[in-house]
Amino acid sequence: MAVEALRQHTIPFFAPLLGDEEIDSVVETLRSGWLTTGPKAKRFEQLFAEAVAAEHAIAVNSCTSALHLALEAVGVGPGDEVLLPTLTFASTGEIVMHLGATPVLVDCGSDFLMDVGEMEAKITPRTKAVVPVHYGGHPCDMERLLRIAGERGLRVIEDAAHALPARYGDRPIGGLGDITCFSFYANKTITTGEGGMVTTNDAELADRVRLMSMHGISKDAWKRFSAEGAWYYEITAPGYKFNMTDIAAAIGIQQLAKSDRFWERRAEIASRYDAAFAPTPEVVTPPTELHVQNAWHLYVIRLQTELLTISRNEFITQLNDAGIGTSVHYLPLHMHPLYRDRFGYANSDLPRAADLFDRIISIPIHLKLTDDDVEFIAATVNGLVDEYRR
Ligand SMILES: *Cc1c(COP(=O)(O)O)cnc(C)c1O
Repeated sequence: MAVEALRQHTIPFFAPLLGDEEIDSVVETLRSGWLTTGPKAKRFEQLFAEAVAAEHAIAVNSCTSALHLALEAVGVGPGDEVLLPTLTFASTGEIVMHLGATPVLVDCGSDFLMDVGEMEAKITPRTKAVVPVHYGGHPCDMERLLRIAGERGLRVIEDAAHALPARYGDRPIGGLGDITCFSFYANKTITTGEGGMVTTNDAELADRVRLMSMHGISKDAWKRFSAEGAWYYEITAPGYKFNMTDIAAAIGIQQLAKSDRFWERRAEIASRYDAAFAPTPEVVTPPTELHVQNAWHLYVIRLQTELLTISRNEFITQLNDAGIGTSVHYLPLHMHPLYRDRFGYANSDLPRAADLFDRIISIPIHLKLTDDDVEFIAATVNGLVDEYRR
């Protein structure tokens, strides 16, 4: 390709943006001598709860742990079914199995989001909870989903790993369902290296999550070892070890302060891509509803492969050859051996996600991209379409 020669360096699919604030905050924490869950984690929880307008926030070591604790707190166990979209990451389904329950996979629309109508049709007397995923940072149709869940007695645990800062109407994602779970993995919209957050407006659920995040011990380590606290504690349930360290929280506090600024830049990149692909019908851009704020964790293009002479995989190879990092979100869960073999899913059982899988490419949307990078990526995609138009 002609554009190849223009570029000397490669553009990574993702790169976190960490500044002196994060570095200084970690150094200060190391010097303080308090490394694990303590004052920094508490502060991060308070700031995060405020940011997403939730009453309670519990900092944990990953979003996978957050989801695990959330489903445990609402009582998911053996014999239960949990509804979740097939187009998601491993975590959303595996935690259901860890608790002895059965994941029931739901297909998605061309907006990549779980089809709420199909979700409703798959409710059975065993269905205990639903785990919607705000794919790419675009909130699901929460009004309809919460209404159905309310009518049918289901608990709603939101997988908001992509959804900081996202809004549904004028409400931030974080206080809509029973419990919401966020990720601070290295490639998420803000990071603590590894980390996660549970948010809820239900004090009892918050207590249960906090208890189970620390061995089911009735007092957390901070109180246990601080001067005011008692040495006495009791184990009340077989809990987990899912707490967040103060080292991670020190990074999180600084990243959270930058979250809206980060979002503004990602939204700007998204609108540049939208404009660049508008004249190219072969490249369908991610839809965004007017009543939501998309967090823009991902920018996923959908190729109209019937209009092209190359496949999605070949398209990816060409982008990578041009120095552009890409990803695919996701191979749908029902197409993985685990779900095929254990639950008997065939690819055609959830045909829309299977079809989408052959068309989608996630292109870079992150804070290290320059305007030139964005222009180069868009020009390369459009150039490939011109070259391989049927
Ligand atoms: C990243 C991710 C998770 C897991 O987050 P961790 O913090 O890495 O455990 C869960 N669900 C989705 C949709 C994700 O993208």
